[in-house]
Parts: sequence; structure tokens; C-alpha cells
Amino acid sequence: MDKNLRDGASRLSKFLDARGANAPVPPADVLARTITYADVQAYPDYFILGPGQAVASTTDCGHGYNLTDGCPNCGTDD
Ligand SMILES: [Zn+2]
Repeated sequence: MDKNLRDGASRLSKFLDARGANAPVPPADVLARTITYADVQAYPDYFILGPGQAVASTTDCGHGYNLTDGCPNCGTDD
């Protein structure tokens, strides 16, 4: 990997870490129940980049995918 690309990747990683750390936190009632695809769509920074990622990546969307996997069936009825 050349230096410019590596520097860019490092900046992107820091940017995403900061975005996750500063993500708006969903309301307590959302966090208290099993999260859904809609919750991940509503709070993507929290559930994909932030502290909710651990939960989202182990929660089944109902089609056999985890909520961070980009299920092809979820969201088709939007
Ligand atoms: Zn799904």
C-alpha cells in the first residue's frame, strides 16, 4: 500500500471512529428491546460504527442475516 493511500485509510479510520463515538444514542426504550432493521436505519452511526455495533452484528434481522450484513430482504417493502 503506498503512503498516500495508507495516510488516507488512517484518516478515514479516525473519522469513522470519531463518528461512532459521537453517534446519537437511541432512546432507552429502543435499547431495552431487541433491535430491528428499522432501528439500524434510524441510528446507523450508533449501530454500525458506534457502541451498538456489537449488538447489531449478532442480532438476526429475521431473514437469517445479522443487522449489519445488509440483508437483501430487509427494506424491500419501504
Ligand atoms: Zn432481513
